[in-house]
Amino acid sequence: MLLFKEVERLQLYLEKKRKEGLTIGYAPTMGALHQGHASLIKKAKLENDICVCSIFVNPTQFNDPKDLEKYPRTEGRDIEMLVGLENDVLFYPTVEAIYPKGINIPTFDFGQADKVMEGKFRPGHFDGVVEVVHRLLDIVQPDRLYMGQKDFQQFTLIQHMLNQMGSKTALMVCPIIREKDGLALSSRNVRLTAQNRKNAPIISKTLNQLNDWMAGGLTVKAAEKKAIAQLSELPDFKPEYLEIVDGHTLQPIEKMSDTDYVVVCVAVWTGEIRLIDNVILKK
Ligand code: AMP
Repeated sequence: MLLFKEVERLQLYLEKKRKEGLTIGYAPTMGALHQGHASLIKKAKLENDICVCSIFVNPTQFNDPKDLEKYPRTEGRDIEMLVGLENDVLFYPTVEAIYPKGINIPTFDFGQADKVMEGKFRPGHFDGVVEVVHRLLDIVQPDRLYMGQKDFQQFTLIQHMLNQMGSKTALMVCPIIREKDGLALSSRNVRLTAQNRKNAPIISKTLNQLNDWMAGGLTVKAAEKKAIAQLSELPDFKPEYLEIVDGHTLQPIEKMSDTDYVVVCVAVWTGEIRLIDNVILKK
């Protein structure tokens, strides 16, 4: 695996490969890699000649400075995992390399899609995400960009951005990788207390019950309420939002028949750790 810290050297290398007619798949990450990240890299390797992974803990997307400070950093293990996966290129830039003075990030129109859920509860978060993904794409210029369904609102906004840019990069969304008990893998899981880790599978279990509850006669709003109540029963668990939304616009729906694409998204505080998850209810 080749490791690049400098933007220019990476660009020179990729430009050469592009001229040789090779395709580039790219998976941006913030490190503390797990099997969720590995799934993106495996897919990118299968579908492209060269797989680029980046590790960059982007300061501009952390609305909570404590979260940034405590974000797990496991450089040695990450590199071992990437070598094991036969990843071709690791881009490991500094903050200064990503944000040199004078770079300009255009603004995009997301309608209301960036105002709800994560956008509502983590003000400024998506400005940071869009800023960093735009900059990273400008550097890597991949044929295909690999992102996880785990961050549903994130990939939806990035797809909007790519559309508005008229970008040639295709977004490839990969399914959520879960522990055997259903907990979605996340870099933040290592920070859960033993008790909260034990109870955490209730999150995906609840999301998976919604279709049955609605088939049993509950309205969308009543099902959301019941799910929030179930999650609130556990000590230390505080759902921040749980919304059944249109998977295209991310706006709340009233009835399952309102749209052809329905997803439920949730954020739950488990002690000091905030977990997110989602399940597609209809597509
Ligand atoms: P992060 O390092 O958390 O910024 O995540 C980097 C990429 O990995 C994002 O596109 C995430 O959606 C994706 N990802 C994170 N967790 C999972 C998971 N459990 N399954 C699949 N993809 C994931």
